[in-house]
Amino acid sequence: MNWEYVQPVRIIFGNGQIKKLTSEIAKLNGSNGLLVTTAGFVRRGMAARILQLSGGTIKQVYSAVSPNPTVEECDNCASILRDNQCDFVVALGGGSVIDCAKAAATFGLTSCAATDFLGTGKAIPQQHLPIIAMPTTSGTASEVTCVSVLSDHNRSIKSPMNSYGFYPTVAIVDPELTLTVPPHLTATTGFDVLCHAIEAYWSVNHQPVCSTLAVHAAHLALTNLRQAYKHGDDLAARENMAEASVTAGLAFTLPKTTSAHACSYPLTNLLGIAHGEACAMTITHFIRFNANHGCERVTQLAHKLGYEDAEALANAIDGMREDTGMLLDLKSFHLDNTQLEQLIQGSKHPNLRNNPVPVSEQDLREMYESMI
Ligand code: NAD
Repeated sequence: MNWEYVQPVRIIFGNGQIKKLTSEIAKLNGSNGLLVTTAGFVRRGMAARILQLSGGTIKQVYSAVSPNPTVEECDNCASILRDNQCDFVVALGGGSVIDCAKAAATFGLTSCAATDFLGTGKAIPQQHLPIIAMPTTSGTASEVTCVSVLSDHNRSIKSPMNSYGFYPTVAIVDPELTLTVPPHLTATTGFDVLCHAIEAYWSVNHQPVCSTLAVHAAHLALTNLRQAYKHGDDLAARENMAEASVTAGLAFTLPKTTSAHACSYPLTNLLGIAHGEACAMTITHFIRFNANHGCERVTQLAHKLGYEDAEALANAIDGMREDTGMLLDLKSFHLDNTQLEQLIQGSKHPNLRNNPVPVSEQDLREMYESMI
């Protein structure tokens, strides 16, 4: 088996570690930074704390990033960087903020707009400003990936862009930042983590470093998500979910995600289901499907996680979905045939080909028909 592993982001992990921001900015020789965040972090006073920690080196704040950030938000952010000749970027927020900041840190050094690259296949310039990413959700792991997902409502697309330059320079993962995440968001982002780990393990591109991280992350998510959901102030559970998130991120970045993530895109785009909840909708189907079609890695994963077989693992995850109020089927959407067809066609995303067992159109049809 031939494989490679690379991970260029320095990771600083631990409760209270946001205080390291001061020394990290100094290491970058940063003197004219931009903080990218959301209105919620400004309101709760956390943006002010970041400005204080920056010792006056952060001179601009962009706080208009929405969930599922748009090309316009990215362009606005890039304009601020360009017009003020900023020399570093700090992203404080969930995947949406970090994705917006990552793309802006590249496009801000050019005269290009995000629409020049999103969904066009045009090569993304490699030069970029240094980014310090501070995740506030345990979910996407955008702080350690080279992906930025933006939406262009004019073209009705939400799509990932990949560029080596999108890797942040440093990720400061401070679990205390996640204490304010409300229960439903804790669950949806937590299922994103679990799916990253499971899909990384069985991806056709699996490799030993990522598989080891995947088992670690899946175990942490399976044993802590319920507690973090029910008792958001349990710092130990939050810390374990933050560790699960970042290790799952390292696990899936190279092998890529597979079937559950492929199906999540149309579930989100067409029906508005939150990303992690959309992934959770099909993960147990694919655990059973892969096992029933002879995929040994799913049974192996179940054993490593302490379950008798893949069915027991799927049952445990279904129980967790139920306990955390996740959607269990698509009945409430009353889908017509056109919508069903759109879901099926939309699920033929390139990541579907990473599933260890080929998934045909008929397989997708049967799965969605069983959910409506
Ligand atoms: P998010 O960043 O969209 O945040 C969701 C909501 O939670 C927002 O309203 C936000 O303000 C709020 N929030 C965030 N942190 C909070 C906190 N600590 N306390 C209270 N509220 C808080 O959610 P997300 O799931 O982290 O990111 C989703 C986005 O990331 C999607 O656009 C998705 O497509 C993308 N994504 C990116 C990657 C990647 O590798 N770059 C991977 C998967 C998904």
